[in-house]
Amino acid sequence: MQDKLNELKKRLGAISDIQNAVSLLGWDQQTYMPRGGADARAQQIATLSHLAHEKFIDDTIGRLLEDLHGYASKLSYDSDDASLVRVAKREYDKARRIPALLVFEIAHAGAQAFDAWRKARATSEFPQFAPFLQRNLALKIRYAECLGYTDRIYDPLLDEYEPDMKTTQIEAVFADVKKEIVPLVHAIASRQDTVDNSFLCRPFDEQKQWDIGMETAKFLGYDFERGRQDRSPHPFTSSFSINDVRITTRFMADYFPAGFFATIHETGHALYDQGVSQSLERTLLAGGASLGVHESQSRMWENLIGRGLPFWKFFMPRARAIFPEQLRNVDAVKMYRAVNRVQPSLIRVEADEITYNLHIILRFELENMLLERRLDVKDLPEAWNAKMREYLGITPPDDADGVLQDVHWSHGAFGYFPTYALGNLFASQLFEQCKKEVPGLETSIEKGEFRSLLDWLRARLHVHGRKFTLNELANKITGKPLQTQPFITYLKNKYSEIYRLK
Ligand code: ZN
Repeated sequence: MQDKLNELKKRLGAISDIQNAVSLLGWDQQTYMPRGGADARAQQIATLSHLAHEKFIDDTIGRLLEDLHGYASKLSYDSDDASLVRVAKREYDKARRIPALLVFEIAHAGAQAFDAWRKARATSEFPQFAPFLQRNLALKIRYAECLGYTDRIYDPLLDEYEPDMKTTQIEAVFADVKKEIVPLVHAIASRQDTVDNSFLCRPFDEQKQWDIGMETAKFLGYDFERGRQDRSPHPFTSSFSINDVRITTRFMADYFPAGFFATIHETGHALYDQGVSQSLERTLLAGGASLGVHESQSRMWENLIGRGLPFWKFFMPRARAIFPEQLRNVDAVKMYRAVNRVQPSLIRVEADEITYNLHIILRFELENMLLERRLDVKDLPEAWNAKMREYLGITPPDDADGVLQDVHWSHGAFGYFPTYALGNLFASQLFEQCKKEVPGLETSIEKGEFRSLLDWLRARLHVHGRKFTLNELANKITGKPLQTQPFITYLKNKYSEIYRLK
């Protein structure tokens, strides 16, 4: 049996090498590649991705997984080998159900739709994009049917990003969030003048923004011997190995929080990838459990830590030393309040930590309506605007700042959005547990000691890589599946105090 296991590892290792090379090509594409390289790069990425896919769906891998099934089921569920066989089997079975032609059609339609989306967004004309969206939707319905489902057509699409998560569980969780958050947002909206952040909206030297971001990333524990930071139009994290995890950031010349929190967010992703057990290197278990779990890490560091008062009690003197003029009369409390300003706004990516979730819930509901044919594509802008009014109390002036704002649907990425909000929920659940198990956590943070939090996350979560699903991790670490209450309690406490509600 050991021979078969070694053969499987050898094959999966080679596939992981190709996939990491694809990631490196993608990283370069978004950082240093000259524009002229675009066509060649698209070709290189397509060729290598195809090669990795072919190698993975090979019959031999199927036979090895079949032969190893009995052996793996006798090992501990948590062990590296049992997890490798289990996760590889899950991915293999899914990959085998999708015909190569459909994969090609989706990629091709996505490229055309992306182009149409860009043009439609520039002129704010949804009808120009509608037929392409219709086509993406039809292809994704076929895709979901190939994968199969027993309850909701959304399930197999969601599963691509959040393994084993079910639509009904998200619906229940989102219903709780909506019930509590919508009234909170409306209450805050009527108290807009309570928080002043005008001192953050003035020129901040870019080199200094870079320096303060690097300093913060190091404080939080990002290992630059095994990583680096560069610039890109959209910040992202990319790993080619547990020992080579890179982040990118970008700055706004006259708005300090944009670059600063982008760096902390990506640092959170990087800390996760750097913390995976070295024994999982070059296997498909190296990396985060899912998009939602990954997002729980970036958002924990960005929001629960970086937008927390203990952090600013520690960091304010340093920030003031770098920006003495801009932050002259700003103390930790003033800074804390300013970086937590809530403003219902049109654009998801600019949203604060409360309203963000409503943007996600809106998209999740519309995706389900489209896939279940309860909503026609042509009626989408109207449905979008109605939900914006209901949840956020604002109406988009046009489709560019409404239904056309996100790139995801142009690629046919239905099922992706909820993972962002799952990340917020899970971050609070984890943090609540960590506070129970690590006494004096917030006092350490006030002193600039982040190691106790990072060590806890490493030992309880990071080390496992992709072995477990979100609910498995939640049960393992906190004794319960994904919960809503820690997040709602956190938001209510924090923002009632900041906005002096009640
Ligand atoms: Zn993220």
